[in-house]
Amino acid sequence: MSKVCDVIVVGCGVIGAAITYYLSASGMEVVAVEENDVGSGTSSRCDGNVLVIDKKPGFDCELALKSQELFETLEDDISFDVEYRQLGSVLAVETEAQAEGAAQWHSAMSRSGVRVKYIESSDVHAHEPMLAQDIVGLFECASDSSLNPMNLVYGYVLAAQNNGAVIKTRTKAKRLLLDTQHHIKGVETSEGTILAPLVVISAGVWTPQIVRTCGVDVPIVPRKGHIIVSERTFKVASRKIQEFGYIMAKFGEEGQRDVEPEMEKYGIAMVFEPTPHENFLIGSSREFAGFDTTCNMEVVSLMAKRAIRFFPCIEDVRVIRTYAGLRPYTQDHRPIISKVDQVPGLYIASGHEGDGIGLAPITGLLVSEMLLGCTPSVPLEPLSLNRFM
Ligand SMILES: Cc1cc2nc3c(=O)[nH]c(=O)nc-3n(C[C@H](O)[C@H](O)[C@H](O)COP(=O)(O)OP(=O)(O)OC[C@H]3O[C@@H](n4cnc5c(N)ncnc54)[C@H](O)[C@@H]3O)c2cc1C
Repeated sequence: MSKVCDVIVVGCGVIGAAITYYLSASGMEVVAVEENDVGSGTSSRCDGNVLVIDKKPGFDCELALKSQELFETLEDDISFDVEYRQLGSVLAVETEAQAEGAAQWHSAMSRSGVRVKYIESSDVHAHEPMLAQDIVGLFECASDSSLNPMNLVYGYVLAAQNNGAVIKTRTKAKRLLLDTQHHIKGVETSEGTILAPLVVISAGVWTPQIVRTCGVDVPIVPRKGHIIVSERTFKVASRKIQEFGYIMAKFGEEGQRDVEPEMEKYGIAMVFEPTPHENFLIGSSREFAGFDTTCNMEVVSLMAKRAIRFFPCIEDVRVIRTYAGLRPYTQDHRPIISKVDQVPGLYIASGHEGDGIGLAPITGLLVSEMLLGCTPSVPLEPLSLNRFM
């Protein structure tokens, strides 16, 4: 016999886990289906930054700031240690020309309510002594934080189970089921049929495949990124540090940095994240390479080279692991958190590109507000599927 519940969540990465938690906390009967294990997709192939400093000024900052607010009480809310550390983050400015260009960006961020402070060249090494001597300035954002993304997924999942949610792992959603009125009525899975009047698809880069089974196209494509993990070592940096050029690489504004063509080709920009255990993670790369997650050693060595340009002291530190993940990319770099007009009862929460860890709480909250008919915490139009139509 088919199982019946209030809502089915398809995909249990960080986004599906957050949604399952918020919906179950509101008293809904939720079944989440996950093809592999929870967090086995992009959410375990990333790093764990909760940033506003790398967002576009305007609505994207508003969304990220709301999510940061929710992180402040998250560990108490879900009774789980996610290694949350609010140490702030820093953008390192490489040249005087970049500093001048950044002035406009700085005032747009201030107008968006983001507190960003400029640290002059004379003070750079008082803040971060290991940075290369020629770094000309830093932009500091005190509200930024970091955490362990897998702990976040497991924390949400355990809290949701405590609320009564059912998480079915090794269960693939094969097809969406519609009634004669073209309304959603359930999901056919590898383990049988589940019926519900509401279905949320949070399957990251795989969302288009599932939604296509009811004839709707979702414009999300995989954007590959690599991470390097170092051995435990000395304190290289006190907090998350990215080069200012990361923002250009993220938004596809190539050609504005003085880097080798190979670095531009793979969208390489230095991202340095210290962990509480004194390992550090190095990013980043960005390329459209389909669903391939094998590590490309050319990309890895270019990333290492770029990191050494900013932190010459790490040249002899050993690498213990590298991995690659697939960011769910949309053309305007914003997630789709939306109902699907063509199929009443069907919702999408995917496409968070390089921001899904940081935007998980606000996504879970917005989906629960949509499904319960409450006033949304931020306007939903900029997140709608229809913006691509
Ligand atoms: C290198 C790198 C670094 C990053 N760093 C950061 C960062 O510092 N901060 C940040 O905020 N974000 C970061 N991100 C982005 C972040 O990792 C993603 O936005 C986020 O993990 C996406 O989560 P998701 O739940 O949408 O997708 P996923 O984690 O991929 O989850 C989707 C799940 O759906 C399941 N699934 C797929 N198809 C089906 C099906 N048919 N049936 C059932 N289940 C299915 C998959 O198995 C998977 O578990 C980074 C990403 C990369 C690649």
